Amino acid sequence: MEVHETIASIRQSLLEQHQAGRSVGFVPTMGYLHDGHLSLMARSRAECDVTVVSIFVNPLQFAPNEDLSTYPRDLDRDLASCRTIGVDAVFAPDVNEMYPEQMLTSVSVAELGSTMEGAARPAHFTGVATVVTKLFNIVGPCRAYFGEKDYQQLAIVRKMARDLDQPVTVVGCPIVREPDGLAMSSRNVYLDEDERAAAPVLHRALQAGAATILAGERSAPAVRHLMAGIVEAEPLAQLDYAEVVDAATLRPVDPLAGPVRLLVAARFGRTRLLDNLGVEVPARG
Ligand code: AMP
Repeated sequence: MEVHETIASIRQSLLEQHQAGRSVGFVPTMGYLHDGHLSLMARSRAECDVTVVSIFVNPLQFAPNEDLSTYPRDLDRDLASCRTIGVDAVFAPDVNEMYPEQMLTSVSVAELGSTMEGAARPAHFTGVATVVTKLFNIVGPCRAYFGEKDYQQLAIVRKMARDLDQPVTVVGCPIVREPDGLAMSSRNVYLDEDERAAAPVLHRALQAGAATILAGERSAPAVRHLMAGIVEAEPLAQLDYAEVVDAATLRPVDPLAGPVRLLVAARFGRTRLLDNLGVEVPARG
């Protein structure tokens, strides 16, 4: 497995792959890899000739009061995980390689980037869209694999790639969960024992929301209220939002119809966790 620390060397390596006519699959990550990340890599391995993983904790997407300095990192373990999956190349630049000088350019995706996570973290998605654009420019034409775990991020990256004609096919992949339903996340290591025991409430709230829709509920506020109540009944959880939106546009939809997405975010102590679930609203009749 190749490990590249510079843009020039990963570019050269992928140029050779492109010239040899091989298809490239790309999995951008912030490292501290778990089975959710590995599922994206395995999907890329199955669908593409060459799989590239980037490991970069992107300062642009963290606000000053967030967890940039404490974000968990373990490059050696991550490289070992990538080897197990059969990844061909890892791009693991340092901050100076990605941002050698002050950035005057940014990419933001209006509207999609301002609600839910965007409302809670105002500069977050501009930081994400900007680094993903840089990474797409470095990697070149590829299929890029993103988890539905970060559903709003996936929608933003899809729209960005279309709007800017980036030569990338964005592929969304299902959420990988722990046996008790908690969505896998690098941030789960922050949870203490009690918080970890409380955290599956997010998944339970989503399941209850989905069940009430499948049982006939069509009122978006009623579904939001039901999910919020379940999260708020957990003393260790501080609800940020519970939403139900159109699955493609992320816009409010009421009465509920078509494919919708239920999304929740809550704080457990100092750890903010996200989760979401898709539901196809049954047609009446
Ligand atoms: P991160 O390292 O948190 O930036 O995540 C890198 C990629 O892995 C993103 O596309 C995430 O959506 C995806 N991912 C993270 N956790 C999971 C999970 N539990 N299941 C599926 N994909 C995930």
